[in-house]
Amino acid sequence: MVERVLLASPRGFCAGVERAVETVEQALDLYGAPVYVRKQIIHNIHVVRDLEARGAIFVEEETEVPEGATIVYSAHGVAPSVHANSARLQHKVLDATCPLVTKVHVQARRFAAAGYTVVLIGHAGHEEVVGTMGEAPESTVLVQDVAEAEALELPEAARAAYITQTTLSVDETVEIIGVLRRRFPEIVGPRKEDICYATSNRQWAVKEMLSEIDMLLVIGSRNSSNSNRLVDVAHAHGVAAHLIDDESEIDARWFEGMRTVGVTSGASAPERLVVGVCEWFRQRGVERIEPFQMASEDVTFRLPVELRRELALAEARP
Ligand code: SF4
Repeated sequence: MVERVLLASPRGFCAGVERAVETVEQALDLYGAPVYVRKQIIHNIHVVRDLEARGAIFVEEETEVPEGATIVYSAHGVAPSVHANSARLQHKVLDATCPLVTKVHVQARRFAAAGYTVVLIGHAGHEEVVGTMGEAPESTVLVQDVAEAEALELPEAARAAYITQTTLSVDETVEIIGVLRRRFPEIVGPRKEDICYATSNRQWAVKEMLSEIDMLLVIGSRNSSNSNRLVDVAHAHGVAAHLIDDESEIDARWFEGMRTVGVTSGASAPERLVVGVCEWFRQRGVERIEPFQMASEDVTFRLPVELRRELALAEARP
């Protein structure tokens, strides 16, 4: 019988997600529905459904959006070809790419322009990886894990540079970079690693909590990379973990023989989902629901410049 629930902190929304969601909300207020959004603005099904109810239309590709319409690019970033398509279709673009993803795009461009082969550490098919690879597709190779780093073949004369997706496992990435450095001693990388503050803080908080819990619940959607990595952190240390979208996916049988359950949430999961999970435990007699705080975060990002400009104009109108 579960006696105690520990709530990891930091958890939940990061600055890039807050900014992306607010961009869509403000665009809906400013222009009215519909506002088109390319891909899920963030990887959380609840947030997507809420925005849909307010008039956002989610599309897979910018080419599906009518000429002249307003389109918001998701927090995960886009390839230059997406900007080109929107320019051709005269879209009003609000780019909600997280500034920390943009930083990785800039690195990819700079390394490629300087003649480096760019080794991108990340997961194939993830939107962020697709966007980053699009910066210099001819010069970029993807490495997904240690085995691929070991097998990587580079032309003899190639100068190589590595960059990483922002939402990877901190520990696994250190290992992959270690392999690349051993195999290609001349390889260069960014001054500071690309895994973002939110991803590393949430993994760190979970890691510190593992010795006190019997099981971890991670609130987040299946396509959320950083949420999946939180599950991986628990598994890597031999602690059972489940990824759930909300409390409706909890199976009471998971907790047989368990006393303390840890709860965290990915960077794209709103806090109300954590409240729902806590309520699930409360209704089953768990009284001890306690915070497990490792750090506090005070990062904020300003809204996209094009939206700020439009908001300022709207405010100045008589
Ligand atoms: Fe930005 Fe990190 Fe949040 Fe992704 S998880 S939106 S990179 S702060």
